[in-house]
Amino acid sequence: MSKLKKMIVLELILVVMLAVGIVVRSSVWKGKELDGGTVNTSTLSAEKEFIKWVDFNVSYEALCAAFDWAVKTHDTEHPVDFVELLSFTAAKTGGEFESKALKILKKAASELAEGETTMEELTEDLKYYTYYREAYGAVLDGMVGEFEEEYINEDGEKCFRKVYGLKAFFPLAKGFDYTHYDDFGAGRSYGYQRKHLGHDMMGQIGTPIISIESGYVEVMGWNQYGGWRIGIRSLDGKRYYYYAHLRQNYPFAEGLEEGDLVTAGDVIGYMGHTGYSTKENVNNIEVTHLHWGLELIFDESQKECDNEIWIDVYPLTRFLAKHCQQVEKVEGTREWVRTVRIVDPALEKDPELE
Ligand SMILES: [Zn+2]
Repeated sequence: MSKLKKMIVLELILVVMLAVGIVVRSSVWKGKELDGGTVNTSTLSAEKEFIKWVDFNVSYEALCAAFDWAVKTHDTEHPVDFVELLSFTAAKTGGEFESKALKILKKAASELAEGETTMEELTEDLKYYTYYREAYGAVLDGMVGEFEEEYINEDGEKCFRKVYGLKAFFPLAKGFDYTHYDDFGAGRSYGYQRKHLGHDMMGQIGTPIISIESGYVEVMGWNQYGGWRIGIRSLDGKRYYYYAHLRQNYPFAEGLEEGDLVTAGDVIGYMGHTGYSTKENVNNIEVTHLHWGLELIFDESQKECDNEIWIDVYPLTRFLAKHCQQVEKVEGTREWVRTVRIVDPALEKDPELE
């Protein structure tokens, strides 16, 4: 080996060592931050196993069908699990949701509901079931389940009742007009050539934006692409909801701050067309719309990296239209607030709240 080659090899080794050092240190730091002061030693292992990519192709029809089965069988002897049913179907079809998938889904659901088989039996030899259960769980685990919902009883009093159903909400308040289509992956040119990693919903300035799921406000403020934007992290840490281009001058719900806890269905901000500007509070987007995106995070190293997992949420948005939040105007202000409160058991379980 020539002297030059040796030097290059040596330098490469040094670079690799340095990079490993940085990764280990940053994961320690991240583990520390997440666990509130204690270092999570599992983040020190050299190679962690976690899901690196998810193509979420579950159709609107499949979401609705699985949801109907889950609701219909919830109080029976053989409840069918929403996420498990979709994961089973994906493991059978390789993650494709054409018409064949619906037949598979329905057949399995009816057999499960009749008690003719179990999910363990159905998935025994399905190689990719575990992968799909974890991948789809990261998308859907916070959406369907038990919660308490406010209602007005015969005496006109506000009470709560137990509900099993769609806990997550549609991102726009009920009764506000919008248009949308599947625009995931379309080209965007502001700043640099890139793909559209979210979903645009066109509507009117000031339309109240609703938190789809409960979680922490992780990011709030100005970004040159998203304009006024909010990032909310689900309580299990796996979903990062990104809401962008909020209203000029009055983007966010009154009093909302980074670090706050929001409940699914809360008003978090207002639709606008800010963004595409390094200068703050500028309307540089032609069409008024909400951009919302969903990033999946199986490991904190994925949050901001070259392989971020943003999924196509168009079918999910249509599905969420089953649960819209009604809002009312706060007199004398530009604020709107929710009219129906829920109690989300995911929030109750959070140890930080006790
Ligand atoms: Zn967009």
